[in-house]
Order: sequence, then C-alpha cells, then structure tokens
Amino acid sequence: MHLEKVDTVGVVGAGTMGNGIAQVAATAGYNVVMRDMTDELVAAGFEEIQSSFETLVARDTVTEQEAEAATARITGTTEMDDLADADLVVEAVTEDMDIKQSVFEDLDAVCGPDTVLASNTSTLSITTIASVTDRPEQVLGLHFMNPVPVMKGVELVVGEKTSDETVTLGREFAHDIGKETWEADDKPGFVVNRVLMPWINEGVRAYDEGVADKADIDRGLTLGTNVPMGPLELADHIGLDVVLDASETLYEELGDRYKPAYLLKRKVAAGDLGKKSGQGFYDYD
Ligand code: NAD
Repeated sequence: MHLEKVDTVGVVGAGTMGNGIAQVAATAGYNVVMRDMTDELVAAGFEEIQSSFETLVARDTVTEQEAEAATARITGTTEMDDLADADLVVEAVTEDMDIKQSVFEDLDAVCGPDTVLASNTSTLSITTIASVTDRPEQVLGLHFMNPVPVMKGVELVVGEKTSDETVTLGREFAHDIGKETWEADDKPGFVVNRVLMPWINEGVRAYDEGVADKADIDRGLTLGTNVPMGPLELADHIGLDVVLDASETLYEELGDRYKPAYLLKRKVAAGDLGKKSGQGFYDYD
C-alpha cells in the first residue's frame, strides 16, 4: 500500500484517542469511518470532535469552513463491515489484548488484502496483536499522543513481521497529517510509555506517602523539570484506567520496577478515571 492510494481511513474506537485520530485524518483531507460499539459512543466521539474544533477555530488554528468540511468527511458507524473500504485502519479500543486481537481478527476478515492495520496501543505487543491476522507484515503500531489534534508526536512501532513498506506507509501517513515520528522496536512500552509510566507511578506514590500535596508534586515537576504537566495532572488527562492498564502490562513484562502504585489501583476501583469521568486526582465537575 502506498500513501497516494490511501483515500479512506478507518478508526476503531471513538474514545479519547479514536475521535482525535479521526479528527486529524479528516482535517488532512482523508475520508474517515469511525466505529464504536453503540450509537451513543459514536455520538460522544462526534461531540468531542466538535468541541475540539471549536477550540481550534477560536485559536485560529483552523477556519470554521475547514472544521465543517473535515467533520463532513467523518462517517460514524457501529458496524465493522463499514470499514471494508478502508485503505488504512487505526485501532484505538480499550488497552486489552483479547479485545484488540478480536478487533484485528474482524478487520482481517472485513478489509481488502492490501489494507494496512495499525494499533494505537500504549504498551501491548504489536507482534502478538498481528499474530491473529493473515497479514502480520501489514500491521504496525501508530502510537498517537493525547490530545491527538495538539500533540505532534507519533511513535511508529515495528513488530517482528512488520514490513519496511508498512513502516514507510505509517511514517508518510503520519507526516501527511502534520505529525512527526520516531521508530521503536516492539518491546513493552516502546520508548514513551516505558519511561513515562514509572514517572507517573512514582508521582502517585510520592503523593500517597505524603512527600508533598498533589498540587505541589505537579508544581515541583513542572517548575523543576520544564514539563507542561506534572504526573498527577497528566494521569488524569490520560485516564487513570489507561495508566493502570499500561502499568500492569509493563509490570508483567519488565518486572518490579513497573509495579503500579496502590493509590492508582484504588482510584480506578472507585471509578475515578480522571478528566473523562469528572474526577481523578483532581475534580473536573
Ligand atoms: P477510551 O476508553 O477513551 O476509548 C476506547 C473506546 O474503544 C471506547 O469508546 C470503547 O467503547 C471502544 N471500544 C472497545 N471495544 C471496541 C470494539 N470492539 N470496537 C469498537 N470500539 C470499541 O480509551 P483511549 O484513551 O481512547 O485509549 C484507546 C487506546 O489508545 C488504548 O490502547 C490506549 O492505551 C491508547 N492510548 C491512549 C492514550 C491516552 O492518553 N488516553 C494515549 C496514547 C495511546
């Protein structure tokens, strides 16, 4: 598959990442089919896109006409069959190997033989996801960052069987939609989350152990290391469940230094998932 043949991009999952990926692909001129499990979840994805465009229009990053035209290029669906014509599919469903493999099995059956299948997984093995398909050489990781319309970086994850042609397509696609890329081998957490997850968990532990109050932990890291958000604020922004899933995979694969913080598990068990649920380490209501 060459980039000039890519006309339609499929996105599976209309959550935090999926709706952002749909938005940036449509803004760059691609037709997008965005799939989630229910009409309500698809509608919620469109609402997020609408609200993101409102912010971008207010900041003069896109015009109102461009936002309208991009939104019109996105079709929402609950049917996997509607992804049949996609030339490239980016999967952005829940960070769970069984769920992702089942999505890839379906995509492999539904999509044409040339279609390239990408996963936005934070930590899971691209090789293991690809193994349920008959096209592992056409499977790669396209790891977008949150919020997708704002963050420039996309990590290209190269599985055991991923072909050079597939990596080239992934890179060219990411560049075409205005992103910058780097390559990572298919090892747990790749580059970004391998380093980021222990940083966040250590911030949560520091808070739990009373080193400082939460605002001061975040202030310490922003003022002291020049990052835009401290670990607790960033965890809320990512989603505490997403951080926990990613940390558990890294703990399982790489051992004790990745053990998830107890307080992170307790917050997730309580349903406090961060910004998306209105309550995480901070209150968003
Ligand atoms: P989310 O919970 O916001 O959204 C996931 C969506 O997938 C939900 O709407 C869910 O209904 C849907 N879904 C589940 N199974 C599905 C299926 N079979 N078909 C269609 N839709 C299905 O999660 P998210 O934060 O968008 O994360 C998605 C992926 O992106 C995960 O793999 C995550 O690790 C990764 N990721 C997340 C971030 C982040 O900051 N949140 C950053 C980079 C990568």
